[in-house]
Amino acid sequence: MKKVIIIGAGPGGLACAMLLAKKGYNVHVYEKHSKPGGRSKALELGDYRFDLGPTFLMYIDILKEVFTKSGFDLSQELELIRLDPLYKLTFKDYIFELKANPDDNEALFEKYQPGLGLAYRRWLHDQHIKLKAIKPILEKPFSSNKDYFRKDVLKALPVLHPLKSVYQELRGYSKSAYFIHALSFQAKYLGMASYQAPSIFTFLPYLEHELGLYHVRGGIHQIHEKMMRLAQSLGATFHMNKSVRKVLVSKGQAYGVILENGEKVEADDIIINADFGYAVHHLFDESDLKKWTPKRLDQKKFSVSTLMIYLGLNQTYDFSHHEIIFSKDYNQYLKDLMQNHVSNDFSYYLHHPSKLDSSLAPKGCSSLYILIPVPNLKADVDWEIQAKVMRNQVIKDIEDRYQVQLTPYIQVEKIITPTDWKQDEHVHLGAVFNLSHRLSQMLNHRPHNAFEDIKKVYLVGGGTHPGSGLPTIYQSALIVSSLV
Ligand SMILES: Cc1cc2nc3c(=O)[nH]c(=O)nc-3n(C[C@H](O)[C@H](O)[C@H](O)COP(=O)(O)OP(=O)(O)OC[C@H]3O[C@@H](n4cnc5c(N)ncnc54)[C@H](O)[C@@H]3O)c2cc1C
Repeated sequence: MKKVIIIGAGPGGLACAMLLAKKGYNVHVYEKHSKPGGRSKALELGDYRFDLGPTFLMYIDILKEVFTKSGFDLSQELELIRLDPLYKLTFKDYIFELKANPDDNEALFEKYQPGLGLAYRRWLHDQHIKLKAIKPILEKPFSSNKDYFRKDVLKALPVLHPLKSVYQELRGYSKSAYFIHALSFQAKYLGMASYQAPSIFTFLPYLEHELGLYHVRGGIHQIHEKMMRLAQSLGATFHMNKSVRKVLVSKGQAYGVILENGEKVEADDIIINADFGYAVHHLFDESDLKKWTPKRLDQKKFSVSTLMIYLGLNQTYDFSHHEIIFSKDYNQYLKDLMQNHVSNDFSYYLHHPSKLDSSLAPKGCSSLYILIPVPNLKADVDWEIQAKVMRNQVIKDIEDRYQVQLTPYIQVEKIITPTDWKQDEHVHLGAVFNLSHRLSQMLNHRPHNAFEDIKKVYLVGGGTHPGSGLPTIYQSALIVSSLV
């Protein structure tokens, strides 16, 4: 039986472990932490539970496929709750509460400005066509420039508008700033601004509006805890609290790993789920790398980072499940962010899952997650100081905006800065959404699922094809499991 080592029990590594264990491979997962899930694991603070990272779950078909191919039924294993409303978007002088039914959203946009309802319908219609064209491209690996001449790629070209940005494409439907922001803030899921993200990604909000956003009872991290248990039931072995120091390579081919404790473990194939930027800098001898050397990687563009504030409060609140509070001058804020400047007028995201899901906080209490997109570690910021400043500013803003008190009710609190992402989760530059998704770093230009530099090494997760974000990460596992 072929032996496979997976470095990291993040979403990509876990999905691979399930799929390969089901195929009968002898799967060994080495994970530096005690818990599975990576950036998508549980954070427990006293009696409160939080998702460390992802809270937006969409396009669940790919996750379903991972479960089905592994012999399980997603709906039997986890309770998925379809969200309605989707989210509340708060602008300087207007609030949109987008709903699960596109008809309601059409009416909502029309009410804000006559004509916008029709623009929304046109947009939805075009995204349906776009998604159909893109899907086959994202499902297959890219291994050379010849892949750009594949039938599926050529067929998709007329709807891709590769030279336009998300922002430019949306302006073709309406010049209304709030309409554009409401359908383009999702570029932040890629750690990018809408004026940078290629227009391909206008389908992201379509996935939410047409196919739905979900919460998982107990938190999104439940997916990953469940995946580990299911992979174990299929025979995969998890070595928790075991960090890999290096991948062992001989004559351009990997044959095992050496652990932090000095132990050597051999295997037929090595799958890397650890952050790609970290792997290039730490898991290989530079002499084994040809294309993806640390020097070359450092010339690439990376996503933004996030400042996280998790609060457990012994009080209940009326916030929505997902709320996005836009800065007063959103365009300027995006420009500042992309130019590595910390802005005083920042946007933030408020996640309030305990209103819907009582398992996340004790009775009469709330768990509140605040995410502020901030520059990655290329920016010269002292996060020890800056995190405290932004934490106080955002709490004051919430208290003033909603006329509530948070401070007297805080029982537990944790802050995660870009530096923490780097140190604790091995995220290169703290760029939590990995290599940026500009066209020059996508498809064949993104690190390949079958690693170009070393034979018998495969990449799974947000740093490889098709990209960062849970659906594409699960897709990368489907690709890798077929390549192995
Ligand atoms: C704050 C935040 C919010 C996000 N929100 C969303 C969202 O709402 N929706 C969405 O779809 N996506 C979201 N994402 C993006 C993405 O889905 C997650 O980051 C996801 O966890 C990335 O998965 P991954 O498989 O690439 O690996 P990771 O989650 O990075 O896991 C890699 C694993 O490798 C381990 N590891 C690293 N080095 C070693 C080593 N040397 N030895 C052994 N193990 C090692 C790590 O400990 C970790 O467990 C968010 C990310 C963040 C950070």
